[in-house]
Amino acid sequence: MKHWKDKTVPATTQQVLESTTCDLCGEIIPTRCLPDATDVEVVATRVFHDRDGGGNGTKLQYDICMVCFISTLVPFMESKGANRDWQEWDY
Ligand SMILES: [Zn+2]
Repeated sequence: MKHWKDKTVPATTQQVLESTTCDLCGEIIPTRCLPDATDVEVVATRVFHDRDGGGNGTKLQYDICMVCFISTLVPFMESKGANRDWQEWDY
C-alpha cells in the first residue's frame, strides 16, 4: 500500500508566446482568429546527415508583418523575377 501526503511544489515559470514583432519594422504582428493568417514566416532550414545516422542543421527564421511583406518583400521578389498570384479561399 502506498501512503500519500500533501507536498507543496514551488510555482514554476514557463515561457509562453506573448507577442511576435516584425523583424523589419518592429511592430507587433496582430494575432487574430487564425494565428497564421496575419503574419509571414520565412524559414530556411539546412540539414546535414552523417553516415552514422546522426546529423545536424541550422535554421534561419524571420517573422514579417503583412504590411512589410506586401510593401517590401513582394516588390523585391518581383524585381528578381518571381511572380506568384494570390490564392483565394473561403471558410
Ligand atoms: Zn513590418
